[in-house]
Amino acid sequence: MKHLLLLLVLLSGLFFQAYGQKKNVKQDSEQYVCLPCGSDCDHAIVDKPGTCPHCGMRLVLKNSIVFKNVTPAELCKIVALRPDVVLLDVRTPEEFTGKADEKFGHLKNAINIPIQELESRLAELKDAKNKEIIVYCSHSHRSPRASYILTENGFKNVKNMTGGMSVWTGSVGQLSMGKSLLIR
Ligand SMILES: [Zn+2]
Ligand SMILES: [Zn+2]
Repeated sequence: MKHLLLLLVLLSGLFFQAYGQKKNVKQDSEQYVCLPCGSDCDHAIVDKPGTCPHCGMRLVLKNSIVFKNVTPAELCKIVALRPDVVLLDVRTPEEFTGKADEKFGHLKNAINIPIQELESRLAELKDAKNKEIIVYCSHSHRSPRASYILTENGFKNVKNMTGGMSVWTGSVGQLSMGKSLLIR
């Protein structure tokens, strides 16, 4: 009787251990988040695919979001250290050239491909596939989604600039690098 009880305790221990492991695996592979749109809903975790109730974006697996975020100050440091970094501006040509209502300027040497055209114009970026690439827009609403599109298409080293050009002058506008990178 004593032995049977011991066996039961042992078996239940094994069962809970296995159950716990299975639960962990399940958690990892079933965490969905909003396809990055730059809004707060990007951080809400859901347990099944579908669309985001806040912004209408497709929900994607959390661990499929692999791009990094950098601040404008960090971008300045990166450009100083590695001048060959690719800067990608995903706004409209009007915003890029300062013909739109919001005139934030653009970054020196940046490539301009609007987010709406990014997927059909990826060939233009084929030389940047293994390079470091930093994506930006005006308010960092479009650039996270563009960054996601790039990593989904095999780009290896993608970073998203947080805040966008709307915060440039306020955050790095007084730094010499911040001034020299800004084209108005
Ligand atoms: Zn989102
Ligand atoms: Zn959303």
